[in-house]
Amino acid sequence: MINRCRGSAAILLNRARLVALLLLLCGVATAQNRSVAITFDDLPGMGGLACRGDAVLDVNNRLLAQLVANEVPSIGFVNEGRGCPQLVEDVLNLWMDAGMELGNHTATHPDINDLTVADYLKDIVDGEKITRRLIQERGMGSLRYFRHPFLHTGDSAEKKSAVEAFLRERGYTIAPVTIDNDEWLFARAYARALAGDASPETLRRIETTYVEWLDSVVAHFETWSVEVVGYEIAQVLLLHANEINAATFGDIAALFVRRGYRFITLEEALRDPGYAQPDPYVGEWGISWLHRWARGKGLEVQWEPDAPEWIADFGN
Ligand SMILES: [Zn+2]
Repeated sequence: MINRCRGSAAILLNRARLVALLLLLCGVATAQNRSVAITFDDLPGMGGLACRGDAVLDVNNRLLAQLVANEVPSIGFVNEGRGCPQLVEDVLNLWMDAGMELGNHTATHPDINDLTVADYLKDIVDGEKITRRLIQERGMGSLRYFRHPFLHTGDSAEKKSAVEAFLRERGYTIAPVTIDNDEWLFARAYARALAGDASPETLRRIETTYVEWLDSVVAHFETWSVEVVGYEIAQVLLLHANEINAATFGDIAALFVRRGYRFITLEEALRDPGYAQPDPYVGEWGISWLHRWARGKGLEVQWEPDAPEWIADFGN
């Protein structure tokens, strides 16, 4: 298709105009029109280690400094019940001071697959008290996004639709993820390496492997998006507020810039018409919205690259 377009157009046009025409006619994804919203789950971070205040604040400070330096307008999804209330508030203030948005990720990070609808909804409401108050105090709009823990959205149609209706009524939009990934395995390996006083070389090796692997994951979802929705959707990446991202986010931002991405807010990403498609998936898994739409269209899911085995096994 591309060759055919190029052959016929080349007769008439010089190279620059040919490129422009090809993009228009052939729908070729370009490095210039890629965009991504980078989102972080599990604030205050560090797996909710109760009151390790200094370490948690340090990770968030380092991460936010790199988000600001790279002009990444991010959003942090909060588990208010996973940390001392004062620590949660301190971390949320850091994020808001840096101009970032906040979203609800439940209070205690439960798995909807294990809960009744009533218990899950209670955790949602319990998870919005501090965040909502801080947003109101600062006059920073409203609490408008909710992300399901583990990206589990309901293992029965009844459960899923009951939670969706509740969220809608409460003013929430469910925050989808297109670039889902095994980042947690790298985060676990890195945390274990730090706790075990691993050598600087080992830490660097984990960091380098992580960024290279993430690059391959992004590449996968670029191609997969074209297959599922017909073009490269405004992507939404899921990461976590943790040590490995605090150490590597500058390199992660650089990989997106190298691939031609613009950093956008979640709000802007969700204006992409691709997100108007309903999420048809009912089941136990937490999977990318591209995989959900693919299943709805009867396509065989093309899974993202796994983390290398040595990372998955690190410290076992
Ligand atoms: Zn989470």
